[in-house]
Amino acid sequence: VTIGVARETAVGERRVALTPETCKKLVAAGAQVRVERGLGSAAHFSDAAYADAGATLVDDARAALSGAGVALCVRPPEIDRLHLLDAGTALVGVLQPDADAARGDAIVSRGLVAFPLERLPRTTRAQSMDVLSSQAGMAGYKAVLIGAQLAPRFFPMLTTAAGTIRPSKVLVVGAGVAGLQAVATAKRLGAQVEGFDVRPETREQIESLGGRFLDLGVSAAGEGGYARALTDSERAEQQRRLGDHLKSIDVVVCTAAVPGRPAPKIVTAAMVAGMRPGSVIVDLAAESGGNCEATRPGETVDVGGVIVAGPLDLASLGATHASEMFARNVFNFVQLLLVDGALAPDWSDELLAKTVWPARAAVEDAAA
Ligand code: NAD
Repeated sequence: VTIGVARETAVGERRVALTPETCKKLVAAGAQVRVERGLGSAAHFSDAAYADAGATLVDDARAALSGAGVALCVRPPEIDRLHLLDAGTALVGVLQPDADAARGDAIVSRGLVAFPLERLPRTTRAQSMDVLSSQAGMAGYKAVLIGAQLAPRFFPMLTTAAGTIRPSKVLVVGAGVAGLQAVATAKRLGAQVEGFDVRPETREQIESLGGRFLDLGVSAAGEGGYARALTDSERAEQQRRLGDHLKSIDVVVCTAAVPGRPAPKIVTAAMVAGMRPGSVIVDLAAESGGNCEATRPGETVDVGGVIVAGPLDLASLGATHASEMFARNVFNFVQLLLVDGALAPDWSDELLAKTVWPARAAVEDAAA
């Protein structure tokens, strides 16, 4: 099979779905790999490294993608990219086909076999392919570093000739993959770290990283290991307890999400108004609207002396390592599609059957 990879087009996107390391492995598995020149430059993977790994370098997206049996991407491709692909091509990456009707229509009308990796079931076997987890780890890490950068204080306790500096208090809202990495990172920087979540099992996870679990008295585990949305009374209870607590916090890192919904609003404008000037909120949930009412996605704003950052490209800030992880996830998934270097998806494999979009029966219809 020929695997084609074109440069990402989304503004600010520096990651790549193929690294020289995974290119080499795909070539060893019998695939031919075509890479658009400059593919990895923003993530510091050179054309020469891809060539050394066995890729054929081509001048544009058309040359990379036309005739490819498998196409790889990080972000949902633009429609004109989809039109470069032939019917039956397997498209693998974060695709969000339901988020944009035109994109979904193009995938169906082209007869593409789309594998939106964000649909992958989160089973033990799928962990090595789980781009949501690998990228959330980088996002949680970078969010804490941004918080540390914006804060007008040290994170660690210092005992100096100029007196003692008390450690910063960091609160992590939501303790999924990104939140737990945020707890770990803030702890390594020497802060006093607290975290909370509505899934009770996160208490032990936060504590095992050296954080303190902040009990706000609300438990809302949903299906498949995710949270469910809170009822109005649960939300009121969470907010009542949180508002008071935030008055003593220096840096808040927001990471809470509920699948298929906009980010829950947890930190209200009134809570922000009650925080001390000089405190910082970094809202990693900004992409889906933010956990804080004061968040402006993509901006850093001063709200009465409280700095509120809503960065949108956190994983891309660590493009080299984020790409290494993303590309390994993609490689592990693509292996399921190939037999002796040829495209031969085994539809009895639940990881393929549950990830493919539209659902399997619809794909057969489109191909017919
Ligand atoms: P996510 O991004 O959907 O949500 C982040 C966190 O926000 C979650 O922990 C959620 O409980 C929390 N949250 C939602 N509403 C909240 C509220 N009102 N207040 C406080 N917190 C709130 O989650 P995620 O990071 O993708 O992972 C969620 C779960 O999936 C975890 O249990 C994780 O262990 C599991 N997981 C499993 C696998 C696997 O086995 N392959 C891989 C990744 C994640």
